[in-house]
Formats: sequence, structure tokens, C-alpha cells
Amino acid sequence: MPELPEVEITVRRLDAALRGAVIESAVAPGINTLKSFAPPLEALAGRTVEGVRRRGKQIIVEVGGELALLMHLMSAGRLQLFETRAGPRDRTSRLLVRIADGRELRLREFGTKQAAWVKLLALDELAGEDSLMSLGPEAWPDPPADLGERLDGARPLHGALRDQHVIAGIGRSWVDEILWSAELSPFKRGSDLSPAELERLHAAIAAVLDGALEHYERVIELPIPDKLPMRLTVHRHQGEPCPRCGTPLAAVNYEDYVMSYCPSCQTDGRVLKDRRLSRLLK
Ligand SMILES: [Zn+2]
Repeated sequence: MPELPEVEITVRRLDAALRGAVIESAVAPGINTLKSFAPPLEALAGRTVEGVRRRGKQIIVEVGGELALLMHLMSAGRLQLFETRAGPRDRTSRLLVRIADGRELRLREFGTKQAAWVKLLALDELAGEDSLMSLGPEAWPDPPADLGERLDGARPLHGALRDQHVIAGIGRSWVDEILWSAELSPFKRGSDLSPAELERLHAAIAAVLDGALEHYERVIELPIPDKLPMRLTVHRHQGEPCPRCGTPLAAVNYEDYVMSYCPSCQTDGRVLKDRRLSRLLK
């Protein structure tokens, strides 16, 4: 699940490796991956990669001063640079950008769903691109000063913090670590936060994402591995002792994700109803 720290380390490594590289050709083996029509991918041929950066969880590869590849890895995509080219039977390939020196920038996706997407845009269209325009301010390095106002009153923090329109970069894994770190219930509403709690949340967002990146800076080298070593201590660690107080961590299971928390540190001792379990018991 690439979130802000995973995407940030990816673009740092790719930017250092690809700046100045000349593209030979590009193809999109993914059936639905390419979401733009003009310019065509052929327009990339012969052009130079000028930089790789991100906005929220989206990746922007600037090419030849005029074009930009905008990508979203969604939940199962990876953007990796390899020394050699993919074989025709690599079923994970969604977009292949072949570099003139033989390397290949490859958007791969694991699992059966094809959700990751790419758009090739003129650089001056990028600013007006919906998926970027609708993003909230970056969660890192400085979470927005108006975080309290941005977390709208009625919604639980767990959902609001993952809403990319509210704040960009946080997803299902790091939100659990952030809320645990701030000692806040995932179901607490933004409007119910005291100034001290809001301050804790603000500090936790910065500290947790910073910590994740520092770790990746130490351990991640090219080629970026399929599975990043996410240093999570709460998310998906239900049943294990809370690293702060020793209480067994609990979880609420949803259709396709799990929310983990410490009942002692975050919910005043209350164990939240597990929706999956209660649905099965109906
Ligand atoms: Zn605890």
C-alpha cells in the first residue's frame, strides 16, 4: 500500500537515477492503465527525463520540458527501475518506459485488479489536472496549520485523515500509527478535538511520517523492492501488546481493510464493535 512515505522514497530514488536519462520508447501493456489520449506515448521517444517528484500519493515524471507522466499506484502498484527490460510474459507490467541505456522504468501492479493509472499530459495541463487540483495540502513535512478546520466536524478522524481532499498522503496503514501516536480514538470527530489533542495530532502526523522516511532512507536502495519494509507497530498488529502500555491491541475489520488501535491508549478502555464479526452473527 504505497502512501506518502513509500511514494516519497520512490521518487527520491528514481529522481536521482533517472534525471538526464533519454527515453527510447514507452508502451502500456496494462489494458486500462493509460487514461489519456493525446499526446500519445510515442511522444516520449527521444526525450530526456527532467525529474521525478510527487504530489500526495501521485507521481509526476517530467519529460523534455514539455510533457509529464502523472501516475497513481493505487493500492497494489509499484514504480520500479530495472537494469534490463521486462519479458513479454511479465503479467504485472502496466507501463514500460524504456531508457536508451537499456534500463527500464516499469509500473507494475500486483493482484488481479487493474487500478493503477497513468496520464501523459502536456506540462502546462498538469496544473489544471483534476486529480491534483482536488488534493488537500501535503501531510508532510509540515501538516497544514488549519488542520482543525479541515477535519470536518461530523466525520471520524480515521476517515477524515485518509480523505485526500482534506490532507494529502495518508492512507490505511499510517493513519493507525498516527492516531495511536497521538493517543486519539479513530472514531473521535474533528469537532470534538480539544486544542491540546489537535496539537498532538498535528505533531504525530509529522513525526510518524518523518520516522517512516528516515527508516526508508537508511534501508531502501534501487531496485525498489516489491514489498517495502513498512515499520508499522500498530496497524495489523492486533493481539500483540501495545508498545506503550502493554494492553493487547484490538482491531475493527472492514470489507477490505483493518483498523488497529490500543483500547487503553485510544478509546478509554472500550473495545470497538468489530463490524465483520457482528455481520456474521446477524
Ligand atoms: Zn496502549
